[in-house]
Amino acid sequence: MPKIRTRFAPSPTGAIHLGNMRTALFNYLFARSNANAEFVLRIEDTDLKRSSGEYEQCIYDELNWLGIDWDEGPDKGGQYGPYRQSERLELYKQYAKQLIDSGYAYYCYCTPEEVEQDKKLSVQKGGIPKYSGRCRNLSPGQIEEYKKRGRKPIIRFKVPEDQVIVFEDMIKGKITMKADTLGGDMVIFKSDGMPTYNFAVVVDDALMEITHVIRGEDHLSNTPKQILIYKALGFDIPMFAHAPLILGPDRTKLSKRHGNTFVGQYREKGYLPEALFNYLSLLSWSPEGEQELFIKEEIISQFAMNRVSKSNPVFDIKKLNWINAHYIKESSADRITKLAIPRLVEKGYVKQPVDESMYNWIKKAVISVKDSLSYIDQIDQELKIYFQQEVEMDKQAKEVLSADHVPMLLETLKKKIQEADIIDQEFSRQLFKILRKETGVKGKGLYMPIRVALTGQTHGPELYEIFDILGREKILNRIDLILKDVV
Ligand code: GLU
Repeated sequence: MPKIRTRFAPSPTGAIHLGNMRTALFNYLFARSNANAEFVLRIEDTDLKRSSGEYEQCIYDELNWLGIDWDEGPDKGGQYGPYRQSERLELYKQYAKQLIDSGYAYYCYCTPEEVEQDKKLSVQKGGIPKYSGRCRNLSPGQIEEYKKRGRKPIIRFKVPEDQVIVFEDMIKGKITMKADTLGGDMVIFKSDGMPTYNFAVVVDDALMEITHVIRGEDHLSNTPKQILIYKALGFDIPMFAHAPLILGPDRTKLSKRHGNTFVGQYREKGYLPEALFNYLSLLSWSPEGEQELFIKEEIISQFAMNRVSKSNPVFDIKKLNWINAHYIKESSADRITKLAIPRLVEKGYVKQPVDESMYNWIKKAVISVKDSLSYIDQIDQELKIYFQQEVEMDKQAKEVLSADHVPMLLETLKKKIQEADIIDQEFSRQLFKILRKETGVKGKGLYMPIRVALTGQTHGPELYEIFDILGREKILNRIDLILKDVV
């Protein structure tokens, strides 16, 4: 069987978007779910002004964080390198020359204004904006004249307008496009001396022996152009798979307006990589059966391109939160504690360095709230009950404390806490039995005022955990504060 080679080809011109990451993921999953397959990372940095090393690093970091690894790339090397387009300029020049020599391409000396004029004229005649192709057949004299005027040429590919381009997309099915809708002869080399995307991508995919080009459907209209170039250069045409774009809840393309769209924003908020991996894989792909929670290995073993849907997936933050909550629950307390500490430091709740006893105390606090988190950034809000000097109370909480039996109950509690040798979880469990007996109060009337007095909230972690975590001094302080107010 011939080898399968997929690639992810991001441009390092900004932080990596969820849609890009889903493209990377599908290429990765397709490669990893096939035996004898390779996954290539290529950096498309021909836009010299907008590309930066910093963004390139960001691509490596985000892919690594999510758990996507590649077999060849600028940082890893490989026999098809270099893997950065800016280092492949000679190759593009060589293939552009081949196209010129074989009559498929030509130098165009038109100014941007002249091209604009052509496009306008074409529209006035009832057509689409299109370059007229007037430099297709320049005489040597005309070329000399342009050169004398100091005009620098670009290179255009002759689009054969009478052709119809047909290809079978692995997701979308049969695609047919007439060449006369492609906008006329396309630029393959720009005035800055760099190749255009449509040209460089063909040279690279062909030379890197990419067998499957998997990318977002926003590139669907580029594919016929690329196929024309493949044919002109005599290259084998790869398989194409265009994944439907991710939409926001209002069914328009997912963008900033809908909230966070960068992978880094989710990492920073405390989404776990395995949760985002799981969620992104389900955007368009679905396995057989109803299961939705999958670890990477399960997704790899079940992924199949024929189960990628044609319809656009809608980004659903509630579902991502549900998946993330699941993986937080499954994580060890140490993992979540380590993620929590920098956030608690930032809030001013904890000071670095955190010594062992502080670490263990934070860990207990984390355990008490871990199962109620959707993402780690919620942790300081959840843990504030343990750190605040004075508890914050809402109207509902105040009402709980206005019951007649509350002062008596809190006085009794205070005495028990003062008398206790140690206040741990076991003591707290016993405490409620004793309080029930001595005060005659049961159920909600017993638990709720104590919960509110200690935390200011009518819900939260288990009371025995709260006692253990707060400790004697804080418990007594809080009871005293309440008694001062209610008596
Ligand atoms: N650099 C292009 C992009 O980021 C690659 C598109 C492709 O996969 O062909 O959109």
